[in-house]
Amino acid sequence: MSGNSSNLHVAAARMPLLQSLQDELAELEQQHLIRRRRTVDSVQGASLQADGKDLLAFCSNDYLGLATHPLVVQALQKGASLYGAGSGASHLISGHSRAHMALEERLAEFMAPNVEQARALYFCTGYMANQAIITALAGKDAAVFSEELNHASLIDGVRLSRAATQVFPHKDYAALEQMLKVCSHKKRVVVTDSVFSMDGNIADLPPLLALCEKYDAWLIVDDAHGFGVLGEHGRGVLEHFNMKSPNLVYMGTLGKAAGVGGAFVAAHETVIEWLIQKARAYIYTTAAAPALAHALLTSIDIISGAEGQERRAHLNKLIRMFSHSLNLQLWQLMPSVTAVQPVVIGENAAMLNIAGNLLEQGYWVGAIRPPTVPLGTARLRVTLSAAHTELQVHQLTQAINRLDQMSYVAQCFAEVA
Ligand SMILES: *Cc1c(COP(=O)(O)O)cnc(C)c1O
Repeated sequence: MSGNSSNLHVAAARMPLLQSLQDELAELEQQHLIRRRRTVDSVQGASLQADGKDLLAFCSNDYLGLATHPLVVQALQKGASLYGAGSGASHLISGHSRAHMALEERLAEFMAPNVEQARALYFCTGYMANQAIITALAGKDAAVFSEELNHASLIDGVRLSRAATQVFPHKDYAALEQMLKVCSHKKRVVVTDSVFSMDGNIADLPPLLALCEKYDAWLIVDDAHGFGVLGEHGRGVLEHFNMKSPNLVYMGTLGKAAGVGGAFVAAHETVIEWLIQKARAYIYTTAAAPALAHALLTSIDIISGAEGQERRAHLNKLIRMFSHSLNLQLWQLMPSVTAVQPVVIGENAAMLNIAGNLLEQGYWVGAIRPPTVPLGTARLRVTLSAAHTELQVHQLTQAINRLDQMSYVAQCFAEVA
């Protein structure tokens, strides 16, 4: 707690409202569920300084290393000098700049091989884009079918839509078909992550799309962890599976592999027009800084060009290296061919202990607990990036192997004793 926590307690004694929050915080602390932020003092790269310590970061979603790419940084500076610091208003008032327009046109052109009559719309964040799409396509008179392991932003969008909602089990499309078969709502929306953010595995989109086409449902695909990374040209999961359909509504984020910030929806031009008219998370917010959109033009150039291909090839090599050289006795590496490589430890306290030990050795990995993941499946979420070297990945796998071995031996002794 902070240095003036005694002051907080004095205040709380006179304020039952504060007291109840403090009681609940204390309970979280006891369950090892308190989350703490580390402050990064340097650029957001593979090696960085956080809270005064030099670390190798294996927890960011900057999958291609573009957050520190000199050309992207330069473009951001140029964007600020061209358009100023802020947009000043929402898109439908005066905040829609030439930079936003150019980015949307570039994204539509880029995604066109996988999107029917493609048009794109830029959002401040992926969280907002998901809210926008779901609430605009599914109202009170709609039925929404939501995959069990969907990201929180999709879940919140579904709740906000007030549609009749059913959750289908993870990748169980037969169960989904049973639900669609008996659905009496005319408006149907199926919502799924492409790459599941805490597991790293990929949804089986072709059979899922076939179902949506058969039962006349929209298929909203959240490709936060696929855009820029999957597919030969980086067009994400749709290119990976070679898909295209007017039923598809694609959401890609631009703060992960694209290295900057914001998100976009790519879909049939009619869908995009509908979002501009109806999506409250698009209409009632100040447009993102135009400089971000300007920088993203450079990100897209890199992603779609030869350098993007090289970066993806290097990343894929690191992914294979990591999963081949982990040799675990006690913990489980989840089956994943993406840059998200989770190692399941189980209990919160044990996982925090291991993550803390890795941090002392200079490795910063994600420490993921419930409710982000199911109870008893606390995990290290290792994310790999094209910014890593083979040596760095090798060192991390050795460190994890050693800790797993030590924990395994300790557990064997505990069982004997
Ligand atoms: C990160 C993420 C989002 C949210 O995107 P932001 O641009 O960070 O708001 C949405 N969906 C998934 C699966 C994500 O991982």
